[in-house]
Order: sequence, then C-alpha cells, then structure tokens
Amino acid sequence: MSHDDKVLITNIQRFSVNDGPGFRTNVFVKGCNMHCVWCHNPETIKSTRELNWRASICAQCGRCFDACPKDAINPPIDPEEARADNSTYDKIIRENCDLCMKCVEVCPTGALELIGQDYTVEEVLDEVEMDMPFYENSGGGMNITGGEPLVHPEYTAELLQGARARGISSCLDTNGNCKWEVLEPLLEYVDVVLYDLKHIDSGEHRRLTGVGNELILDNLKKLLEMGQPVWLRIVVIPDYSDSLDYHEKVAAFLKTLTHPPERIDLLPFHNWCESKYRQLGIRWSFADTPAMDPSMLRPAIEIYRDAGLEATIGGSGFE
Ligand code: SF4
Ligand code: SF4
Repeated sequence: MSHDDKVLITNIQRFSVNDGPGFRTNVFVKGCNMHCVWCHNPETIKSTRELNWRASICAQCGRCFDACPKDAINPPIDPEEARADNSTYDKIIRENCDLCMKCVEVCPTGALELIGQDYTVEEVLDEVEMDMPFYENSGGGMNITGGEPLVHPEYTAELLQGARARGISSCLDTNGNCKWEVLEPLLEYVDVVLYDLKHIDSGEHRRLTGVGNELILDNLKKLLEMGQPVWLRIVVIPDYSDSLDYHEKVAAFLKTLTHPPERIDLLPFHNWCESKYRQLGIRWSFADTPAMDPSMLRPAIEIYRDAGLEATIGGSGFE
C-alpha cells in the first residue's frame, strides 16, 4: 500500500464515551463483509460512495431535477407530503445515478450529500490527534470501526501503526469475520479489541448477518488465549437475542473459555438510525420496532455477573 492510498470514511466522530476506555474518536470506514438486518450504520455497509437525500431540509425546489443528466431525480412534490412518516417518496432513482454530483452542486439547502470521503492514513491521524489532551486525561484514543475495518486490512494496519507512532492508544472494533492471518498481525498495535458478537447460534447468525459464526468464535478464542484485552459487545435485538435463556447460553459459552473477555457490553437495540435508512432510500425491516429501554437488560446483566464476568449496559456503566 502506498503512502497516498485512500479509503472511504463516512465519519470521524469525536468525544464518544460508549465505545471503549475514556474519550474516543471513532473512525468509520466504509465497507462491510456482513449484512446485519438491524445494522445501525447502514451508510457504512457498501464500500462505494452513496448519495444521501434528507427530506426534512428539502425545499422541493426542483433544481436537482433540472440539473440531472441521467434522469435519476424524481420530480418535486409537496414538501410536507415528502416529509410525512409514511411517505415512500425518494428524491433519487438510484439505479440511474452515476454520482456525477451535479445535483449536489445546485442544491441550495444541502439536502443532497455524498456519503464517503477519501482519506489517507495521515489525514485521518491528523484529525484524530487534535483531541490528544482529552485522550491523555481520560485514557481514551482512536477507535477504528465501520463497517468492518478488516475489509481494508492494509489501511487499518497503517492507521494502527501510525497512531502508535504518535502516542495515540487504539481500539479495533471488529466483527471478527476474517482469517486469523489477517487479524493477528494487527494486534501488536491494538490496546483493546472491541469484538462484536451478533448471535451465539450459528444458524441464527447466518440468517441475521449472512454468515455463520464458527470463524468468529474461533478468532475470539484465539484472541483471549493470547491474552489480548477484549471487550465483547453483544447487541441485544428484540425477539432475536433478548431472552434470558439466550444470555444464559452466551454466558455458558464464555465460561468455557480459558481467559474471559475483560468485560461484556450489552448494547440495547435502538432505532435512531431509521432516518439514515430513509435518506439512503432503503426500507428498514426494523423501522417500526421501538428502541429498547436499557433498564430492560438488568436481569440479563446479572447472568454475566453471576458467571464472574464484568458487564455493562450500553458500554457506559449505565444501570
Ligand atoms: S449525482 Fe448526478 S446522476 Fe446522480 S442524481 Fe445527482 S445529478 Fe443525477
Ligand atoms: S435541489 Fe435540494 S432542495 Fe431542491 S429539490 Fe433538490 S434536494 Fe430538494
């Protein structure tokens, strides 16, 4: 990989307090090798750029319609009708769009925007380094997340090495769906692995994410056996992974491991990302599912604690 190689980044989010130790800057890389049906960051799934349209700030002025050379914009309609919760109107006819950006250039309100910007490793690190005083005071640092960072292993390796060289601590947030030979060389530069467990049953895992969990559990065991600090992040989805039986099963699995994860973070399902799906023109099957009240996870958290594991709700110590 050359010094100038770039990867698409959807966001560099500062001052996160729920994703690892201290204040953290989350670097969201674009592209993922799984497709979780509940994904909370749908803009990171595809590894290519995408066009976003926000009905809430669209004036339906029609300038984009006039500017588009590809017949990829629908004619304007009444703004209130377009903003209605049950509206199926999408500004963009995505199969016609070649991302020429002519519509974005003429939009007076910023309702159209491109998702995914090229960043070199150094450009990311320059931005991450701006919050160095906060990392030093809180034990925080950089998180590489996504999407799945290991879809871009060389870039991720350079980012981790560059952060170490600048004295910035790093967490790697991964779904673990990769060959061990890809993950293992990076660990030298990772302080904590934030490891996602989507479902403990492989058949359910495949149904919900598109892949089974054998490789993922195997990589988890290897990480723990080598003494790598791991914070296991268990997303709790209504009707899929919210029963106490389910958490008994996960805790029983974790107890079979020689070294347990440093801690377990139970992440309650939320639906704040519904608008992101709408902006990308995607109908989300969880759009009508209410967000979970975090306090509902108190009985589940006790299961992990009874098993001798440190556990939090939401990764922030909230209870
Ligand atoms: S990006 Fe270009 S092709 Fe796509 S909708 Fe806008 S103007 Fe049309
Ligand atoms: S140019 Fe912008 S504000 Fe006007 S209709 Fe298109 S998206 Fe909406």
